[in-house]
Amino acid sequence: MERKVFQLGDVVQMKKPHPCGTNEMEIIRMGMDIRIKCTGCQHSVLVPRAKFEKNMKKVLRAAKSGLE
Ligand SMILES: [Zn+2]
Repeated sequence: MERKVFQLGDVVQMKKPHPCGTNEMEIIRMGMDIRIKCTGCQHSVLVPRAKFEKNMKKVLRAAKSGLE
């Protein structure tokens, strides 16, 4: 199974879209739980890391890399 790599500030794509229709979330806090903010409606939610890793599809934009 592929290990998911992500860090603070990354914009990630979720498997399920937010109720507002956006499925891009920005990681705004990392810890035991991860706080993500919807890039569509700016609503933020706190999710357990295991749940986040399960629901996260991929990193769309990394916070600190030269890749766009
Ligand atoms: Zn939203």
